Amino acid sequence: MTFRLRALGSIAVAAVVAACGQGDAGQADQTDAGVVNLYTARHYDSDKALYDRFTEQTGIRVNIIEGNADQLIARMGSEGSASPADVFITADAGALWRAQNANLLQTTTSDVLTAAIPSNLRDPEGRWYGLNRRARIVAYDSTKVQPAEIDTYEEIASPRFRGKLCVRSSDSVYNLSLVGALIEAWGPEKTAEWTRGVVANMARPPEGGDRDQIRAVNAGVCEIALTNSYYYIRMANGEDAADRAVTQKVKLSFPSLDGQGAHINVSGGGVAANAPNRENAVRLLEFLASPEAQTAVSAGNNEFPGNPAVPVPAPTNAYADFTAHPMSVAVYGRRQAEAQSLMSAAGWR
Ligand code: FE
Repeated sequence: MTFRLRALGSIAVAAVVAACGQGDAGQADQTDAGVVNLYTARHYDSDKALYDRFTEQTGIRVNIIEGNADQLIARMGSEGSASPADVFITADAGALWRAQNANLLQTTTSDVLTAAIPSNLRDPEGRWYGLNRRARIVAYDSTKVQPAEIDTYEEIASPRFRGKLCVRSSDSVYNLSLVGALIEAWGPEKTAEWTRGVVANMARPPEGGDRDQIRAVNAGVCEIALTNSYYYIRMANGEDAADRAVTQKVKLSFPSLDGQGAHINVSGGGVAANAPNRENAVRLLEFLASPEAQTAVSAGNNEFPGNPAVPVPAPTNAYADFTAHPMSVAVYGRRQAEAQSLMSAAGWR
């Protein structure tokens, strides 16, 4: 199989040439039964190593098409029924819902997937499955804030933290999904009040990503920041000495929503509506739900395995001892428009 040893791009071209008798460079491969076309918004080297492992195990080549979630959704939409997309993968249940809502995903029934992934981490109709988990929680300045002051989501918006909160913008799907979860738990009125409290608490207008908020806590710009768990864990255990130093002073709190645990989200994927290689698509998702893949993803980018039976590897295991709220992550997308309007009304840019 010298075939497999060649670069992915030339394989794709070669396969199309073989099937059609003419060159068609730049197109995803949709004619070879031995391929799966993966549209992914995740860009981790560890993910690519994982796809190589899938190819080793199954002989199915993974043709990777990258972009951010909204770009890939637009591309699949414009490709329509001719789309070569087999699998769509992205972070955040709210982004998976956007693909589902645009009718770009099909129902997959798989005993392997339903056994591996708890029901609250997947679409009830099987259009997508959460493969890895993350919590959206709080990083705080341990020299100024007591952990007990920030162990609920209400406290993020409380007068205790007027002008002392760093948070990214409201167009972040992470924030939209959190607010969607709060609407589900609290209803629109209490959540609207919460969003107004958040805006009143902002130390500065939203700018940057989650890691920038954590660094701003260390710099004294704010005392607390909203962040996804893996960003903090990566800073605490990564190559960058300055970021590691930040996590000496800045600590992580897992607030509880109504006493039921921290707000969690997923990265995950589903089978594309018009997948030309449907069986291979299901096999790739099943592989990504396997203990081997769950462990590798967690080790590579500090998410928690979606499958609760898979032990959390180091260094993320040091942060895994928290209660996760049992809410279905499928709720976030359904609440997205409502969340957006509450945040806009509050002036959360
Ligand atoms: Fe992220």
